[in-house]
Amino acid sequence: MKILISNDDGYLAPGINALAEQLATIADIVVVAPDSNRSGSSNSLTLDRPLRVMRAANGFYSINGTPSDCVHIALTGILDTQPDLVVSGINQGQNMGDDTLYSGTVAAATEGFLFGIPAIAFSQVDYGWAHIEDAARLAKDIVLRRLDELQTPYLLNVNIPNRPYGELNTVVATRLGKRHQSEPVIRSSDPHGNEIFWIGPPGQAKEASEGTDFHATSHGWVSMTPLQIDLTHSSQLERLKRVLR
Ligand code: MN
Repeated sequence: MKILISNDDGYLAPGINALAEQLATIADIVVVAPDSNRSGSSNSLTLDRPLRVMRAANGFYSINGTPSDCVHIALTGILDTQPDLVVSGINQGQNMGDDTLYSGTVAAATEGFLFGIPAIAFSQVDYGWAHIEDAARLAKDIVLRRLDELQTPYLLNVNIPNRPYGELNTVVATRLGKRHQSEPVIRSSDPHGNEIFWIGPPGQAKEASEGTDFHATSHGWVSMTPLQIDLTHSSQLERLKRVLR
């Protein structure tokens, strides 16, 4: 098995190192990841400047671009053959509900999926990397499960509680929940007195009922959500047809 690994926290992040170490025991791995933290970059591609690929001493490739750039360039310019799987993460912090639209971690997996390759995005629920080795062991277990019985290619979003490996034995299939609106923007000023803004943190979970990713992880379970990319609102489409008639 050949696995392409990327992330949005950058090629030096503990999460991608732990993941690569575990997956290297079961597959041929290639790591291609941003050269800096590009969290929140969603599916953006860099089109206004050229990109450079660097190779680190440990063999990881880094690119001065987004997670989507990394997977795109890996698949079209670095790898000789298509990988069997694209894996992203392990992200520092949860990607649940609406987070999945902003997430560069999910985007890296999505880029593989858009090329017709099965893909999995992994995130740890809490910041700080606690139990990252345990999360990476679990990620390896998930890669080894019989996911080929799913419709392929599949795109899976996995959120892992920061717990010891022995407590990560419940993996549940979930749907995305929803968050409240983001917290307010943070206003400040730069050293020259000019006004500056920091985007505020995401809102708290709003739709966290049974069956959602929020519900599962709040119980300490590992959450796995199958994602799709078609944003068409089918019932609204029918209404729109009636309106335009
Ligand atoms: Mn991140």
